Amino acid sequence: MFDKILIANRGEIALRILRACKELGISTVAVHSTADADAMHVRLADESVCIGPPPSKDSYLNIPALLAACEITGADAVHPGYGFLSENARFAEILSDHNLHFIGPKAEHIRLMGDKIEAKKTAKRLGIPVVPGSDGAVTPDQDAMAIAKGIGFPVLVKAAAGGGGRGMKVAHTEADLQLALTTAANEAKSAFGDASVYLEKYLQKPRHIEIQVLGDGRGGAIHLGERDCSLQRRHQKVWEEGPSPVLDAAARAKIGNTVAKAMQELKYIGVGTVEFLYEDGEFYFIEMNTRIQVEHPVTEMITGIDLVLEQIRIAAGGDLPMTQDAVVINGHSIECRVNAENPVSFRPSPGKIQQYHPPGGLGVRIDSAVYQGYVIPPYYDSLVGKLIVHGKSRVECLMRLRRALDEMVVDGIETTLPLFRALVREPAIIDGDYHIHWLEQYLAGQKTD
Ligand code: ADP
Repeated sequence: MFDKILIANRGEIALRILRACKELGISTVAVHSTADADAMHVRLADESVCIGPPPSKDSYLNIPALLAACEITGADAVHPGYGFLSENARFAEILSDHNLHFIGPKAEHIRLMGDKIEAKKTAKRLGIPVVPGSDGAVTPDQDAMAIAKGIGFPVLVKAAAGGGGRGMKVAHTEADLQLALTTAANEAKSAFGDASVYLEKYLQKPRHIEIQVLGDGRGGAIHLGERDCSLQRRHQKVWEEGPSPVLDAAARAKIGNTVAKAMQELKYIGVGTVEFLYEDGEFYFIEMNTRIQVEHPVTEMITGIDLVLEQIRIAAGGDLPMTQDAVVINGHSIECRVNAENPVSFRPSPGKIQQYHPPGGLGVRIDSAVYQGYVIPPYYDSLVGKLIVHGKSRVECLMRLRRALDEMVVDGIETTLPLFRALVREPAIIDGDYHIHWLEQYLAGQKTD
């Protein structure tokens, strides 16, 4: 097992990793920018190192500074969390060149899945169903219109290097295609330094359903069921739940076993999430995330498995915590991402938290790194915290969520709490009857059929 882990992240996920390390008896090193000197993860870690000024590129993305912090503190492993360097294959290689463990998959798998075109080809080869689309990148000398007509409009132009919903444009008709191609390529070029784009059938009312996997790197892999992340705004998840209101045990076992088998073939190590769109009973692969995800607590609540702890154990050479047969889905869980944003305009609202009262009671969990008097800095994401609830059934979970949301107080800044308080009372949400465009339509005050 590792002796000392450096946590190359901030906020709630840094704290989440720290908690797993403490339970495993592993010493922790926090790193922080000058803007985060008062952050909770810095206070709770055994040691801390300042790695640079506020902009992420000079601190949390600063590889030489992170290596120096490992050297100074004698850390033997690095946990990257999510975002920042978590899906940077080069970072994983550099750490290994310096005899440091990267707590994550092999660099080759990060690279493979980081390129969405390659990822899709690999998924297809491994027997995972994919969204119909172009065969790889659409190059300027190809007739994009002919390819798009072959797929059938509407089509979605997607960036090969995409992430965070950027570099994605819909062409509803033939007249929209050229503009969609150019805008997506330009956006991809400036955001990711890679202008390659590909085409996909644009699904009209799918759900976003993702499968959580755990691999041991030696050909063993299990799946831990699904999370339904269909409530999205600008392709960003807002509310996640598991199990999905639309899957039964047989459908879950079928897609889960397909994914687990693919991971066994890849000899995948650690935690991973295979994301699908789901429409009319069919699954369509969109991408794989080779890291712990924001919404991982949903799976922890319904399986009782500590994913971050297992991630660390497996990175240190440990076995899978259980066999597939022993995985039992228990009850229902919902996570709300409470952001420091205006609940109508979604404009970020950084600043000082004057009053803070997290809800509690049976089945209520808060993953957050804020406290009363904490100042949310303007430089990073606007997550205040995740409210996660668990209940024996979806109905009990919704009742508990409603009560927890009403109890929660975050004053001094604007938050998205009022949005969640409204959502939990919406008939379509209560019925579990929503798709990936539902929330945007709801926010636009349109009829949602
Ligand atoms: P990113 O890596 O930028 O998050 P994804 O490929 O994971 O991109 O897609 C993010 C979201 O965009 C999906 O959850 C879904 O809402 C939407 N999306 C992606 N592909 C399609 C598609 N073919 N049809 C309709 N919506 C899509």
